[in-house]
Formats: sequence, C-alpha cells, structure tokens
Amino acid sequence: MRQVVTGMWACPECGRSFASRNQAHTCVALGDLDRHFARASPQVRAAFDAVLASVSAVGPVQVLPEKTRIALAPASCASTHSRRATWCTRSG
Ligand SMILES: [Zn+2]
Repeated sequence: MRQVVTGMWACPECGRSFASRNQAHTCVALGDLDRHFARASPQVRAAFDAVLASVSAVGPVQVLPEKTRIALAPASCASTHSRRATWCTRSG
C-alpha cells in the first residue's frame, strides 16, 4: 500500500509519505488494515471504526496499518510521533 500525499516526501524504500525529508521511521511497507482484525471480534473492529469516524470528523486522517499497530496520523503532517494519535491492536 503506497501512502503518497501531495507535497510530502516519499521514502524510496517503503513508499510511505512524510512531511519532512528523511523522516526517521521504521522503514517497512504498510500492511493490510483487515489483517489486524482477522482474529478479532466484530466488536473490536466496530470500536476501531467508531474511533476512526470520530477522528475523521476533526480532519483528514491517514490510517497507517503497521506491523504491530494501527497509527492514525493527520493527513497534513503524517510524520512525527508527537503529532500522531495511535490506536493499537494486538496482531499476529
Ligand atoms: Zn521507508
């Protein structure tokens, strides 16, 4: 999954987009959102969807399905840890 947002720097290795060039990050391509919920109850997915809907009501959000968590980042500054909210699920 390639997450390129106009005006942002895209890592040539993993394809993720960041507000700052050479932003420090775990350089692994994003995974599949549904994989995080493959063994979860429907209530867990419903809770995530409710959180995502609430956050999205505030502004554009990128959903970043990483290896062990799902990060929600403002679409305009999907870069720094200090600016992003994180929703964690158990996976694998
Ligand atoms: Zn990378």
